[in-house]
Amino acid sequence: MLTKINNKNGDELSILGFGCMRLPSDEINAVNLIHEAIENGINYFDTAYIYQAGKNETLLGKALTGGYRERVKVATKLPPYMVNSLSSAKKILSTQLSRLQTEYIDYYLIHMLTDKAMFDKMVSLGVMEWLEEEKRKGTIKNIGFSFHGSKYDFELIIKAYGWDFCQIQYNYLDENNQATKSGLMLACSLGIPVIIMEPLRGGKLVNNLPQNVIKEFNSYDVDRSPAEWALRWIWNHKEVNVVLSGMNSEEQLNENIRIACDAKSDSLTIEELKIFDKVKTIMAEKTKVPCTACGYCMPCPHGVNIPGCFSSFNDKYLLDDKMHRFKYYQTLGGFSAKPAYASQCKECGKCEIHCPQKIEIRKQLKTVDREMEGVVLKTAVKAARKLLKIK
Ligand code: SF4
Ligand code: SF4
Repeated sequence: MLTKINNKNGDELSILGFGCMRLPSDEINAVNLIHEAIENGINYFDTAYIYQAGKNETLLGKALTGGYRERVKVATKLPPYMVNSLSSAKKILSTQLSRLQTEYIDYYLIHMLTDKAMFDKMVSLGVMEWLEEEKRKGTIKNIGFSFHGSKYDFELIIKAYGWDFCQIQYNYLDENNQATKSGLMLACSLGIPVIIMEPLRGGKLVNNLPQNVIKEFNSYDVDRSPAEWALRWIWNHKEVNVVLSGMNSEEQLNENIRIACDAKSDSLTIEELKIFDKVKTIMAEKTKVPCTACGYCMPCPHGVNIPGCFSSFNDKYLLDDKMHRFKYYQTLGGFSAKPAYASQCKECGKCEIHCPQKIEIRKQLKTVDREMEGVVLKTAVKAARKLLKIK
């Protein structure tokens, strides 16, 4: 297993991290899988307070008893949309420590930030100050955040605090989406280690690829699965510290371990990179709105996350994603104080003059509104916001 040193704290982390969200529901299988991963050199395990309604942390805690805990780094997350007071945050951390059967969390993240307003709320409640206190006491070793918003908000958040690390969604399809490649480079330039999530877009880059993309991959001399292509593309970036993969079978685990044993950064050849260029061109041709997420149209005075709206909309067609509506609400601030939906557009037209792609932003946002903001889910999100007391 290849490893990389976290330059901020000296931790030697396996380049392959175990994303526990998709662990098998059968406890014995899950525990065996975790043990096998550790024996093969994986030493970074990522879970969250909300995964499997809390059972995920409990399961990881059980698997790490008997001497395994000391061999690995545990990452878990605080859900900001469930935190309405400092005491609620304290209660969540205390529950997590008890579920994980541990005295400390190695990597603690504010979960799923989508915009600066969510971070500001944590600051105003005193959560960041308290986390620093916990870090001084040793209960938390590193403070970070996971991110699902736009490049614009990523830049604001990463510069707003002295983060120990961050976690972003990144893969060959997301080079210009969410935090984007420039976000990865920015984090690196600030000396902030980066953990990558969704390297296979929840399996979509394996199971939902267009046929001509598969043909391109298959044209290469060496036989590789789409998953291997996608992982090698990420590990080719020297700026990446750990790539999380949500493995739930021995077969997946073994394949990923094999790749992680020789996927060095800057190792892809010119021929391999050309294959990715062709793949990206095919993907771009299937893209409905040619937004490159440059962000020149931002900020919108009415809070619309313009590139984020187009990205979610494009995914609907590109990867035949059945969860497209839910993901739209999730990434566009459905659980934040400042949602950024297409329907918020007031058609002022200020954004369009800045768009180098000459996109008719107002017209396209109307289509996004029509196709992505269904009445049923809109009502469900409203109800969830009420329940979580999000104003
Ligand atoms: S046209 Fe709509 S999206 Fe563009 S700046 Fe105005 S309100 Fe924002
Ligand atoms: S300016 Fe145009 S291409 Fe750039 S993010 Fe905005 S809509 Fe997309």
